[in-house]
Amino acid sequence: MAIKSLDVKKDKILTEKDNALLEFQETLKEAVEIMNYPKQVFEVLKKPMRFLEVSIPVRMDNGQTEVFQGYRAQHNDAAGPTKGGIRFHPDVTANEVKALAGWMSLKCGITDLPYGGAKGGIICDPRKMSQDELERLSRGYVRAVSQIVGPTKDIPAPDMYTNSQIMAWMLDEYDHIREFDSPGFITGKPIALGGSKGRETATSKGVLYTLQRVCDLRKMSLKDTRIIIQGFGNVGSYLAKYLYDLGAKVIGIGDVLGGLYDENGLDIPYLLENRDSFGIVSNRFDNSITNQELLERECDVLIPAAICGVIHKHNAEKIKCQIIIEAANGPTTKDALKILDKRNILVVPDILANSGGVVVSYFEWCQNNQGFYWTEQEVDARLKEKMNMSFGNVYNTAKKYNVNMKIAAYIEGIQKLAEASRLRGWLK
Ligand code: GLU
Repeated sequence: MAIKSLDVKKDKILTEKDNALLEFQETLKEAVEIMNYPKQVFEVLKKPMRFLEVSIPVRMDNGQTEVFQGYRAQHNDAAGPTKGGIRFHPDVTANEVKALAGWMSLKCGITDLPYGGAKGGIICDPRKMSQDELERLSRGYVRAVSQIVGPTKDIPAPDMYTNSQIMAWMLDEYDHIREFDSPGFITGKPIALGGSKGRETATSKGVLYTLQRVCDLRKMSLKDTRIIIQGFGNVGSYLAKYLYDLGAKVIGIGDVLGGLYDENGLDIPYLLENRDSFGIVSNRFDNSITNQELLERECDVLIPAAICGVIHKHNAEKIKCQIIIEAANGPTTKDALKILDKRNILVVPDILANSGGVVVSYFEWCQNNQGFYWTEQEVDARLKEKMNMSFGNVYNTAKKYNVNMKIAAYIEGIQKLAEASRLRGWLK
């Protein structure tokens, strides 16, 4: 593969994400009705119990002050403190953050963690900010939300375009405000600050274990499976490497600027070595394609691992795979899912497939609370056990109610939330 000079081909990927909250609510309603729950279950869960909007003034390197818009949504804390990442992205919206918080509650329900869901976001473009500006923004966000977060209230973590360094700055700011050391305030921290071994790779490992279960069920060998991964950030890149090492054929990858495709399999270690700090590598090649083209190429398993709403009613007919594993949050719209169901394409939902991240965040929080740290093998074995248990439950629920795995995952996710809310007297 020849490296081309670094020219930027803009691949503005067409997405439909603005309906995320509505789609969350509609699917929630369907699941509540199938379970014959009282209507109040839907009323309690359809919106976050708390939503904070903040303005964060940040002194930029040029001496000017810029004011950033930030959000934190806490969906439901009946089963325990709320939990969920913080994303830094120019397209963050209030409704998207609310939907993502709801999905976090469902993830925690499916994986049986003692949490409800939350999510945070800041409208910003980290690719255009210096490290110093990012540090000031991260600290400013913590000051703005410090009243409603904490190790037994609401525990943040990384999400899109945030990483362990940002978690470290946030932890430091929180410790200064509270005047004591509280590593359990945030997860996805560097290991030197109380982070967990295996947290960085947890989401991709969880997706891998999910894919292995699907292969077992479909009697497919991973080695003969042709896979396209759309997204080459934290989740997509580790996943590509694991699959490559296991001998699977990763025939396509996509990043924010475009995609690369080779039906004989891509040289993943080479691509990993040549990407920039935002995971971008497609712009280095003459033969790159658009993300849209990548999603429509033929493969056995398509893994959207980047952003919301990339598979929608306009391209769902053109998808040429047997299985979709949603590694991103909300990559398939409701309309698209209807089309994919009709076409007999199995869609393994995000709230199951990408729950490995929050599962190992929970392990990190347990280790912080105990002050006793686990080996990577221990973390990995417990993650695998959780993923397998969750997959089995969702799969069996889909069979029992004759519904797709998305609805089945909602059914599984709601049960604990509804039960905890009822026991607290919030529901009859
Ligand atoms: N941001 C990740 C997610 O969407 C992880 C959240 C967490 O670890 O709390 O699942």
